[in-house]
Amino acid sequence: MSPVVPLQDPHAPVDQLGRTMHDLRISVMDRCNFRCPYCMPKDTFGEGYRFLGAAERLSFPEITRLAALFVALGVRKLRLTGGEPLLRAGLPELVGDLAALPNVTDVALTTNGVLLARHAEELKAQGLARVTVSLDALDPAVFHAMSGGFGTPGEILDGIEAAIAAGLAAWAGAWLGAPLLPGRLTDVAALAGAITLGTLAYGMVVWIFRRALPLGKFAQ
Ligand code: SF4
Repeated sequence: MSPVVPLQDPHAPVDQLGRTMHDLRISVMDRCNFRCPYCMPKDTFGEGYRFLGAAERLSFPEITRLAALFVALGVRKLRLTGGEPLLRAGLPELVGDLAALPNVTDVALTTNGVLLARHAEELKAQGLARVTVSLDALDPAVFHAMSGGFGTPGEILDGIEAAIAAGLAAWAGAWLGAPLLPGRLTDVAALAGAITLGTLAYGMVVWIFRRALPLGKFAQ
């Protein structure tokens, strides 16, 4: 009888269902250039809020070393997130370091997209494979309420188009937490038409948040 070959490293970390953990999300920046009310409300994350100083964040070599340790335990896919990861100076350099790690099959980025057009080509050149962009609304007024008054839908769409042009697989995510804002469903439907589907590996990631938020909070 041939020996039984285990399908996974017996020492690899597993979740509660016994599945090997292949994906690792790495937060590289606690700050964000948006103030989405469901994430960083202005009244909490205002002028006086103390974010980490540059020296308090893990350096790129430290992040790369940590990622390598996780890869040795079975992780294969890395996703950079924040806050807003593109606020971290030199992020493409980190992407390059992570993509070069042996056995890493995928490096992805989650971003609000407002800085994406500026960095898409360099990120792709450094080995980024995919980008997930959150776009809460196409209507400027609704977007303004959802982002805390920062950015525009046009800037985000430009970022998505730049990512596609650079050869990145782009996913657009919409916040669909209940209760819905007026126009949210039509926004989500319109998003499909706002981006050239022929060139976009398009998907809709629905983020359901644990807490239902009062409509009045966004409708002001
Ligand atoms: S863009 Fe993302 S990280 Fe920034 S405040 Fe909004 S939800 Fe939070």
